[in-house]
Parts: sequence; structure tokens; C-alpha cells
Amino acid sequence: MHENYKVNSLIERWNVDVQSYRSGAKTLASVPQCETCTNYIRGNALHCNCYNSERKPKYVLFPKKECPAYYNNSPINLKIQNDRENKIYGGLFGFCVGDALGVPVEFSTREEREKDPIKEMRAYGTYHQPFGTWSDDTSLTICLIDAINRGYSIKKVAENFVNFYEKGYFTPYGDVFDIGNSTRNAIIEICAGISPIECGGRAEIDNGNGSLMRILPIAFYGKKLSGQELIQLTEEVSSLTHGHNRSKLACIFYVEFAIQIILGYEKEKALDRTIDFINSNCVKAYFGEFENFKKILSKKIVNLTKDEIKSSGYVIDTLEAVLWTFFHANGYRDTILKAINLGGDTDTIAAIAGGIAGIYYGLNDIPQEWLQSIAKKEELYQMFEQFCVVTNT
Ligand SMILES: [Mg+2]
Repeated sequence: MHENYKVNSLIERWNVDVQSYRSGAKTLASVPQCETCTNYIRGNALHCNCYNSERKPKYVLFPKKECPAYYNNSPINLKIQNDRENKIYGGLFGFCVGDALGVPVEFSTREEREKDPIKEMRAYGTYHQPFGTWSDDTSLTICLIDAINRGYSIKKVAENFVNFYEKGYFTPYGDVFDIGNSTRNAIIEICAGISPIECGGRAEIDNGNGSLMRILPIAFYGKKLSGQELIQLTEEVSSLTHGHNRSKLACIFYVEFAIQIILGYEKEKALDRTIDFINSNCVKAYFGEFENFKKILSKKIVNLTKDEIKSSGYVIDTLEAVLWTFFHANGYRDTILKAINLGGDTDTIAAIAGGIAGIYYGLNDIPQEWLQSIAKKEELYQMFEQFCVVTNT
């Protein structure tokens, strides 16, 4: 009798949660929902670790995966042997964790985030996904990592993109629930047999943040290349989906900035050195774009107020939001929460900012409860371990 009461009450609570999420309402914060694992759900989320799957009502998705305790029951132990690994794991996990924290509130407005700021990992929301679900940003980033691990070629990256789009490879649960228009159009072109570097849109309208959000691995893979080689590689990887100069220059800027952070420079020095790099190497090919990067290239970005930062999916807005957040936050957690609470393209901005912050502050600064809740963390770890080996040349 007691047993039945417990299960029913849990289902009832779930039902209320699911219905309220579907109608866009908020659930109560800090309600203890499970008497078995005694896990408290902070913020809002569905649950639970002790759920009997035979009794699962249809409207409850992914039993067990909804509870962070489920992941915490099988934590991965990341072994870091040196500063280099600390930066690679910090950057790559920092990226995925930022993505996963931003996914439930993607497209929310800044006003909504100010009223209900993100403080912890949440589940459900925009795409109705469980805790720790990362999106296309991470999927496309690991497509690139996998291609590098197998001996980089742009063709291998393109094949991985097709497998992601058509078969759900490189996703947490086999579904593509989020993909940008330019990226989708480019993948359709790849499928039609067009040469990969010809597939990315080159019109001004094709300057979403879709290539910037997946370029980070190039900072680790290409850091020993000469300036021109690094630029060419970055252009090639961007052009797969985003061939306009604005998107390519944003990628070059971010990759070079990440390299300066990897090299150990402080934030401001890294920014100075990146601006010098752009001025020395990109004037000829990209001068027409410099006007669009003026807040960044003049370093004005560092002193702007929050109201002057837009956090849309436009590549310039995204890069500005990332840099602004990185310069205004202290620590990994603060960076991610500041990025997400700008609203807008929360997952991508938090992922890109999380990549830089993860490199800068190191793996150990990423909160364990966030890291351990990440979907497919073992598989990601394996892939990153191999990436560490491959890029250590
Ligand atoms: Mg996304």
C-alpha cells in the first residue's frame, strides 16, 4: 500500500511537470522528488533514478536519464597527466557542458532569463530533452574530432556530417533535434555529391554561427601550423557549411584566440596577440570585413555594458557575446551562467564561451555535477583521449 502510494505520487508529480513544461510553465524549484535516491532537483527538471520502467507512462521520456543522480551513480574518472591534457579536456568538456546547460533555454529572451536565471543544469525546456543533453554544436564538433582522429581530411568531416544528419550518429540519443538552416542546406549539397568546400553558403545571410560553433578542435590540431596554413585549414573547415568571409574570419579569430589561451597568455594579452595576428595576416583577404569586427578589433568589446551585447545566432553577435562573457566572468561556472543568462542562442554561446573558459580555467574548474551529467560522457572521453594522442605531435 505504501509502495503504491509512493509510485502514484511520483507519477502524478511527473505528470504535472510534463504538462507544465509542455505548456511552457515553470515548475517549483527545490522540490525533493525521490525518496529512494533522495536527489533534490534544483531549478526545475523531471526525475527519477528509482523509477520502475514497467510503470512508465507514455508521456515520461527516458526514465532514469532524467535524473542527474543516474549519471552520478557511474561517474567517470578523468585522468589528467599534464597541463596540456588539462587544457584539452577542459576545453572540449567545457564546450559540451556549456552546450548542455544552454539547450533547455535556447531562444528564450533576456527578460525571461533575468526573471528566471539559470543557476544549475536543467532538463526539458525548448527541446524536451533530459539532463545533460548536448546538441548539434557538440555533435558537429565531435564530427571534426573524429575526422582528425582518423587522419584529417575535409572529406572525412563531410562524411561525418552526413552520418550525423541522416543517421543520428554523434548525437546523445540518435536524434537530430536541433540543426541550423545553413548547415542543413550544406549537408544536403554534400549528399548530392558537390565538393565539400563548395557546399557552404556564401551569401551575407549565411552568417549564422554554425561554423564558429564547431571550429574549436582546430585550435588544438592546428596550433603548430604557420599563420597562413592555419588560416587555410580554418577556412576549409568553415566553408563546409559557411563560406562567407565573415564566418571564416570569425572562425580564424576564435581559433587564434584559443591558441593564445592554450599557450598560457592572460585574457587581455591573448586578445592583443590575436588582434595583431589578424592585422598581420588577414588584411588582404578580409579587409572588407574589418568594419563588422570593429568592436572586437578595437578591443571596445571588453568595456561594453550588457545592454550593448546582442546574443543572437548571427556570427558577429555570437563572437561578441562570447568574448564579452569571457572578459566579464570569473571562473568556468560564472562564464557559462553569464553566457546563458544573456538569452537568445544560449547553447551555442555557452558552448563557445565554455570552450575558451575550459581551456583557461582547466578541467577541474568545471563543476562535477555538470560534467557527470553529460550524455555519453564515456564515449566523449574516449574520443578526447584519442584526440590528445593524435594532436600531441
Ligand atoms: Mg545547438
